Amino acid sequence: MNDPLKQLSEDTPRQRFVLAETGFNEVPKKYRKFYRRWQGSGDTLALNEVLCPVCRVVIRSSREIRPGDRVYCMPCMSRLVVIRSATGHLEARVAY
Ligand SMILES: [Zn+2]
Repeated sequence: MNDPLKQLSEDTPRQRFVLAETGFNEVPKKYRKFYRRWQGSGDTLALNEVLCPVCRVVIRSSREIRPGDRVYCMPCMSRLVVIRSATGHLEARVAY
């Protein structure tokens, strides 16, 4: 239980994030701030980010992301659901 996120109850208000332009240009301009490119093994995900397992683009939210959340990856049109992996990290899985 050393992951601070794991200790948050569902009642804890979600942290909010201000999204800035990331240079991601594969979606219409108004949606660009919600995506960024994954930089590889040296990259880390913020509390408001989750990696799309299909196209490896990082999906960003203006709120903290938690297990059970549904997110949409516009670049590859995948509907995803966020789960907590065995290693304690947040992961997105394709939702059918
Ligand atoms: Zn994707």
